[in-house]
Amino acid sequence: KNGVVIVGAGHAGVQAAASLREEGYDGPVILLGDERELPYHKPPLSKTFIKDAAAQPQPLRGEAFYTGHTIDFRPGSLVERIDTAANSLSLAGGDRLAYDHLILATGSCPRVLPLPGVDLAGVLSLRSVADARLIRDHSAACEDVVVIGGGFIGLEIAATLAAGGRRVTVVEALDRLLGRAVAPLIAEHVRQRLEASGVRILLKTTIERIEGEGGHATAALTSAGERLPAKMVIIGIGVVPNVELAGTAGLTVANGIRVDGSMRSSVANILAVGDNASYRHWQTGGDVRLESVQNATDQSKLAARTIVGHGGDYGAVPWFWSDIGDMKLQMVGLTAGSDRQMLSGDPAENRFSVFHFIGDRLAAIESVNRPADHMLGRKMLGLGFSPTAEQVAGGAEALKAALA
Ligand code: FAD
Repeated sequence: KNGVVIVGAGHAGVQAAASLREEGYDGPVILLGDERELPYHKPPLSKTFIKDAAAQPQPLRGEAFYTGHTIDFRPGSLVERIDTAANSLSLAGGDRLAYDHLILATGSCPRVLPLPGVDLAGVLSLRSVADARLIRDHSAACEDVVVIGGGFIGLEIAATLAAGGRRVTVVEALDRLLGRAVAPLIAEHVRQRLEASGVRILLKTTIERIEGEGGHATAALTSAGERLPAKMVIIGIGVVPNVELAGTAGLTVANGIRVDGSMRSSVANILAVGDNASYRHWQTGGDVRLESVQNATDQSKLAARTIVGHGGDYGAVPWFWSDIGDMKLQMVGLTAGSDRQMLSGDPAENRFSVFHFIGDRLAAIESVNRPADHMLGRKMLGLGFSPTAEQVAGGAEALKAALA
């Protein structure tokens, strides 16, 4: 028995290995990761890690977990090629490894911005703990930072560095923050609060080039002709899925490795999970590729069940969180197609939620510092329950009563 080989030791890969054992899989489980670290939590990297010189990565599982569950974790293993006909793969360095099932959990990587000056020292992006260490080291020696891109990660970094005393300018090409990811009301709230905390935000603005001296970034030039001094420029304009391995192996790729409801790719014994997988979503009927810890975790649990033979269809409620300064944003459900919104709570108090409906059906809830609404949303969407306008207006107590 060659067992299950998992490529990528991030949130999805580690969960898949753990779930295989929980589901009673007793063959070999080999977990290959190209990083050298013990697999770690990514969300803290843009939040607490970069402001604390002593912070260490938080392991997803302790070292004993892997040995205790006979999971053969091999750090520093870069997979270069998959041979689907031979059910084997090759590693950098030439080793080959055969598998019965292969799980691709290769995640995603920061989108590259083709700009004069992006190769200068001090121009950085954030995906791994190695990237986070670079940002932390550079920020110790610079007062001015430019963040290109007003998405979740860019804004988290901006808030964290501003709280640490840096002068931060966020440059966003669109006329609002957070792209189309959240309701305009929330995007505007985040903008106002970040500005009040000292972050400068330039909307409808792009960076045309980055200037440097002696190979190191010194300033970023905006489309409006302004020269923003900055020894550190962080590019946070989204990610692209790591699909090269799958593509060259002939798997179907369409904005991610295409999988069915049980996480199988177009090759039956190869599954894909996490940031790199695209699929038809049960809630909206549309094709999605989600980038969240929840998505990585739930898909990996299902992939393990598929391999041991009791898969079923993916139907987990999607949820996500982001901490931007003093705002805990929590999203549950998908807002695609939302045609009616209801506000609950008061933005002036920095505590409110936006309920999204499609007709009378609850589609999503986006919350700022209202964890009870978020938790109730997970419950309601899981049950397929849609509250009335009166119940939403009645707040968490009324929603709890309606669910009881
Ligand atoms: P990853 O965790 O990226 O793991 C993929 C692994 O595969 C990586 O280690 C990669 O190096 C490795 N790999 C890739 N190719 C190969 C290869 N050929 N051979 C071997 N190994 C390979 N989500 C939330 O829900 N909430 C948050 O607050 C949040 N904050 C975030 C903050 C940051 C800074 C980042 C980067 C992400 C954040 N996310 C957050 C997103 C979340 O971390 C991802 O959705 C999640 O990590 C996806 O898991 P994954 O296993 O698919 O990918």
